[in-house]
Amino acid sequence: MVLPFLVSATDTRSSARRGTLQTRHGAIETPAFMCVGTRATVTGLEPADLRAVGAGILLANTYHLLLRPGPELFRRVGGIHRFMGWTGPVLTDSGGYQIFSLASDRTISEKGATFRSYVDRQRHLLSPERSIEIQTAIGSDIMMVLDVCPDARAEESTIRKAMERTHRWALRSLAARTNPEQALFAIVQGGVVPKLRQESAAFLTAQPFDGFALGGLAVGDTRPEREEITHSSAALLPAERPRYLMGVGTPPDLLHAIGAGIDLFDCVLPTHLAWQGTAFTSTGRVRVKRSACAVADKPLDESCACSTCRGFTRAYLHHLFKCGEPLGPRLLSLHNLHHYLALMAEARAAIDVGSYASFARAKLAAIDRHEHSERSLAGSPLDDLDDPS
Ligand SMILES: [Zn+2]
Repeated sequence: MVLPFLVSATDTRSSARRGTLQTRHGAIETPAFMCVGTRATVTGLEPADLRAVGAGILLANTYHLLLRPGPELFRRVGGIHRFMGWTGPVLTDSGGYQIFSLASDRTISEKGATFRSYVDRQRHLLSPERSIEIQTAIGSDIMMVLDVCPDARAEESTIRKAMERTHRWALRSLAARTNPEQALFAIVQGGVVPKLRQESAAFLTAQPFDGFALGGLAVGDTRPEREEITHSSAALLPAERPRYLMGVGTPPDLLHAIGAGIDLFDCVLPTHLAWQGTAFTSTGRVRVKRSACAVADKPLDESCACSTCRGFTRAYLHHLFKCGEPLGPRLLSLHNLHHYLALMAEARAAIDVGSYASFARAKLAAIDRHEHSERSLAGSPLDDLDDPS
C-alpha cells in the first residue's frame, strides 16, 4: 500500500480518531494540521523554523508552482523536498480551487481549465492529466485530483454538474498516475446538499484512492452548514483511509471536524493573519498593531511555549509592525503555527485517553468566551476571515 494508515485510538463520545500515516518522507501523527507553503515556502519561515514549531507535513500548490518555477525545474533538481530543503512529507493541492478563485481569463471545459498566467501572461491548460504530471514532477508524497469548485451558494443543478465533472476528472487522474509511490486523494464535492455529498462519496470511495478529501467548504457556506456537511460526509468515508478537510479553518472549525473523524487539515489563516498582525492566543485574538499593545510589557500569550512568546513582548511586536520590519510577521507566524500545532497535539493526547469530546467542549467554550468578551475591543472574530488562499 502506498500510504499505510493505522488508526490507534477512537474517542468514546465522538468520532475523533488517532492515527499514523506513513509516507516516504516520514510518519504523520493524525489529526494533523498542514502548514501552507503555497509557493514551496511558508512565507518568511525556513524548514528549521517549521520543525521547531512542530510541523509534520507541508502543503504546496500545483497552480502556483506550475507558473513559477515550473515543473521542468522540479524535474531538474529532483523534486520539492530537495528544492526547498524540507525533508518531511509534502501534500500538493491540484490547483482546482485556485483555477476557480484566482485565475484570470479562464475557460473551463470537459478537457480542463485554460487560463492566463499572472507571471508572464502565457496561456496554460490545467487538465486532470496535466495536474498529475506536474504533481509527479514536484514529487509530493500526497497528490490531489483536479476538481471543480463551485460556490456553495450556487444552484443545485450547477453543484451537481460540478460534482459529476469532478468524478470524471477523478477517474482521469487515477489513470494518469505514473509514480505508484505517490499517494492520490479524491475530493468529495456536492456543496451543502447532503444527497449530493452522499452520491459523491459513494462514487469516489468505490475507486482505489489512497485517501479522501472534503472539498468545496468554506466557500460561501455558513459555519452550521459546514459542520453539518463535515459530520455527515466524514461518516460516509472508509474508516481505514485518511480523511482530509480542505482549506478549513479556525480553531473551532478544527475542533468540530476532529470530532467528526477528520484526520488532516490545512488553512492559510494562521500565517495569513500573522502577516496582518493578528495572533491567535489562549485568551482570544490579539491584534498587535493596536495601541493597547504599544506599552504591553508581556508576551502575546502567557501560556504559550513558542520562541516568540518566550523571547519578546507585545510592545516589541507592536513596534516591529509599526516600522514595517519583516521580523514582526515572522515572529507572529511562528507563534500562530505553534498555536495551531499545539492545539492538534493536545487533541491527539485527548483522543489517546478517550476524552476528546470533553476536551473539545472545554476548548470551544473558552474560545467562545474570549472572542465574545473581546468583541467590543477587537471587532467581530469573523471579520478577519475573508481571505483568499
Ligand atoms: Zn507563542
